[in-house]
Amino acid sequence: MTNNLNGQNSNQGSIANNAQQLTLALSKGRIFEETLPLLEAAGIKVMENPETSRKLILPTNDPDVRVIVVRASDVPTYVQYGAADFGVAGKDVLLEHGGESLYQPIDLNIAKCRMSVAVRDGFDYASAVRQGARLRVVTKYVQTAREHFAAKGVHVDLIKLYGSMELGPLVGLADAIVDLVSTGSTLRANHLVEVEQIMEISSRLVVNQAALKLKRERLLPILAAFEKASQALA
Ligand code: ATP
Ligand code: MG
Repeated sequence: MTNNLNGQNSNQGSIANNAQQLTLALSKGRIFEETLPLLEAAGIKVMENPETSRKLILPTNDPDVRVIVVRASDVPTYVQYGAADFGVAGKDVLLEHGGESLYQPIDLNIAKCRMSVAVRDGFDYASAVRQGARLRVVTKYVQTAREHFAAKGVHVDLIKLYGSMELGPLVGLADAIVDLVSTGSTLRANHLVEVEQIMEISSRLVVNQAALKLKRERLLPILAAFEKASQALA
């Protein structure tokens, strides 16, 4: 038996999720920053800053709510396996993960951008497509890109990269990239032009299916507060 912060007995150990505790998975950077106001709307304040702290488990003002800091693309995995009860992840990440096992109740309207096709300035994408050319495309979003080009009937060879996609067309690795765009300044700085918008992207709340049943009473008020606060951002 161990005692949790409320002084209640818990026989599940201090690492395991006890029956009361909620674990929220967030990634550092824009998702963390933009989720903070939503948490505050639910009365939750994170007590440490992940940019300056080395801790990966951050306490909040609510002893039963903690935040774990993980890579953006790992958020769905923690939630799927129940190591986090809920989390915030971009639609881009969720599509690549194949989020069927995750309940996605709320579009939080944060971390908004779009997923687009871009090519080197001067490359005639439209006529390459018209002529049925086989295009080489670099992307981190292989699943989403494959579906997009298949639906358009464009033949592509997809090459998976983990970052700096913009470099691909500049050094002859690819004709095009599929990447996230917000202002377009990174594209411009690298002499790339956006030629097709694939979809609008924003971050979603994802909830573990079992937690939704077992911790319903704790989760529902937070979900309601998130929903209300995020509607104001639409
Ligand atoms: P890392 O930068 O550590 O490699 P990442 O790129 O997955 O990981 P972030 O850059 O924090 O992490 O992006 C997290 C999420 O924010 C993305 O999955 C996407 O939904 C969204 N996002 C990414 N880039 C932008 C952008 N330029 N503007 C707005 N939202 C963005
Ligand atoms: Mg990034």
